[in-house]
Amino acid sequence: MRDTEFYTKLLGITSPWDVSLVELDTEKEEVQIWIRYGSGQACCPECGKAYPIYDHRKPRRWRHLDTCQMKTWLVCSIPRVSCPEHGVITMATPWAKPQSRTTRMFDRLAIDMLKAFKKQTKLARLLRISFDQMHHIMHQLVTFDILMQKIN
Ligand SMILES: [Zn+2]
Repeated sequence: MRDTEFYTKLLGITSPWDVSLVELDTEKEEVQIWIRYGSGQACCPECGKAYPIYDHRKPRRWRHLDTCQMKTWLVCSIPRVSCPEHGVITMATPWAKPQSRTTRMFDRLAIDMLKAFKKQTKLARLLRISFDQMHHIMHQLVTFDILMQKIN
């Protein structure tokens, strides 16, 4: 099995998303997983209607769960669509919330560990992320919990 196919399966991403390149930097102890979108159409994240790809944003990185001892990053040039109603807009990705610098799986791990440890600063150091990133993940959880309380 090729490394790209291996990571596509590990990440659980499906067509038209797939892994196009896996880079290993042993000096920095990092793995970079490049994800591409293999369709000429994408959905507007606001209205859900499909439009042709307008362009791609410059590559962006999200911190993901480690690969062994290596910090692991997902990298993608996310497509944008031109929606008549919402303008030129970046499509949503299945691995992260909009504006987030960490993946949903990383957020889940951070929250589970925070519930167990309850020390933001120590946990940020353990996860090798900044205090600001830890705070952002927590803020998202609190917002989500408030939203769920209003729904239920
Ligand atoms: Zn739209």
